[in-house]
Amino acid sequence: MTGSPRKIAVVGGGIAGLATARFLLERSRQEGVELDVRLFERERRLGGHIATSREAGFLIEGGPDCFVSQKPWGLRLASELDLEQAVTGTKTMGGGKTYVLKGGVPHALPDGVMLMVPTKFMPLARTHLLSWPGKLRMGLDLVLPRGGSADETLGDFVRRRLGEEALERIAEPLVAGVHAGNPDRLSLMSTFPRFKTMEDEHRSLVLAMLRARRKTRSKPAAARSAFVTLQPGLDRFIVALEEGMPPGTVRRAAVVQGLEHGAGGGPPYNLGHSSGESGGGTLQEAFDEVVLAVPAFAAAGLLRELAPAAATELGQIEFVDAATVSLGFARADVAHPLDGFGLVIPRSEGRQIMGITWSSSKFPGRAPEGHLLVRAFVGGTKAPELLREDDETLLATVEREVTGLLGARNPVVRRLYRWEQAMPQYNVGHRQRVESIERRMKVLPGVHLAGGSYWGIGIPDCIASADRVASAILGRANAPQ
Ligand SMILES: Cc1cc2nc3c(=O)[nH]c(=O)nc-3n(C[C@H](O)[C@H](O)[C@H](O)COP(=O)(O)OP(=O)(O)OC[C@H]3O[C@@H](n4cnc5c(N)ncnc54)[C@H](O)[C@@H]3O)c2cc1C
Repeated sequence: MTGSPRKIAVVGGGIAGLATARFLLERSRQEGVELDVRLFERERRLGGHIATSREAGFLIEGGPDCFVSQKPWGLRLASELDLEQAVTGTKTMGGGKTYVLKGGVPHALPDGVMLMVPTKFMPLARTHLLSWPGKLRMGLDLVLPRGGSADETLGDFVRRRLGEEALERIAEPLVAGVHAGNPDRLSLMSTFPRFKTMEDEHRSLVLAMLRARRKTRSKPAAARSAFVTLQPGLDRFIVALEEGMPPGTVRRAAVVQGLEHGAGGGPPYNLGHSSGESGGGTLQEAFDEVVLAVPAFAAAGLLRELAPAAATELGQIEFVDAATVSLGFARADVAHPLDGFGLVIPRSEGRQIMGITWSSSKFPGRAPEGHLLVRAFVGGTKAPELLREDDETLLATVEREVTGLLGARNPVVRRLYRWEQAMPQYNVGHRQRVESIERRMKVLPGVHLAGGSYWGIGIPDCIASADRVASAILGRANAPQ
């Protein structure tokens, strides 16, 4: 090998940035390619939205608390990091039951409702969550033809197939809630393309779900819980990723402030960053390739000079604030059995919180003996004003709602995590916008985008984006120069 190694900057120390750095380091070693990888993280703490805290025997997840097992990248990374033994599925107490609030009272989602699609007749017939006209309207899905536009809203799609009541009572809190978004703005194709595929392939969502269920039943080995987490906390991903990197790879408290073209003859990009080592000023460092694993609005700021058209479109991706409030109780102080996974709250209930997860019922090891842990989700497009309150007001409001709903009192632990501009909104037009951004980014060969702003917000999607970017960089490194 000749010359100095190619220098790669990864901006952002969330799961996407850390996974990108990891894949680059591991695969370049395997392929015998020399790369010099540097990761810049604005904060002292790594992990971005992944944040775990431990207090008084409780294990509290401030951001994500699990990830889907159906998309392989999360589990694959766990096994690459020797975290396989730490992966745990959901507990089954209450059979994975989810409650929906109606008229201030939690009603169990009827057995057989998968995502938002009913697959069992009797439980649907018996539930008080939906009116009879609402139930019959859901059943119409069986006979309705295909329809809709190429990029319709989640709201229009659900109204068309299952009816208004199914949207209000089930799809909005359960499905749109994942994005903390408004179903009348979210794009079906960008948030839940699976539903569109179901309609395209099977016409009816109910028939599609029934057929899918029959297929999984005939494959007994595929019995992995749909949602998994790391038993000692999701921050184990972050710790393991950093530990696997050579010393000096990760620079904490290093704010990347700008990206410029390099001087002729040298590497093509100059990255301006400030950190302790720059004494508060800006240091310029030259790189061959740059990965922006930061939210789209932060990438927009960094690309304003070099790719103004891409930057404008990046800035058009909307984000909303969110917060989580975890409350720990002695078991004797909670009247609700906390069976199942939690409670979702439709917008029409006029509450300040979007839902409550029974954290200690969902996953093992979340609360000490004789105690329970729950976590409320706040904000998004539903109650943005609550997030403008100070910490104590916000905590007190959430505590009041949670204790009222669960018949609980005297929390022994209260922990608030605020997440500003945290949830990208994949509104109608998102896919076209991201494709257009990618085309416009071609003016900057060697500058890449990764993370949850573009092709999926879940942890596995973020890792998949890291995988794609690492492959692209190694492909370029291996190409004849
Ligand atoms: C409350 C909440 C709950 C969630 N629940 C789930 C869940 O249960 N399951 C799931 O799969 N997903 C969940 N998600 C989504 C998931 O957590 C995120 O999509 C994912 O963690 C994003 O990772 P990322 O690396 O793309 O971005 P981030 O985690 O945002 O990391 C980006 C990093 O870039 C840094 N940065 C920004 N600008 C600069 C700069 N100029 N210079 C240097 N560094 C910079 C930031 O400080 C940050 O650390 C949740 C998200 C939130 C907010």
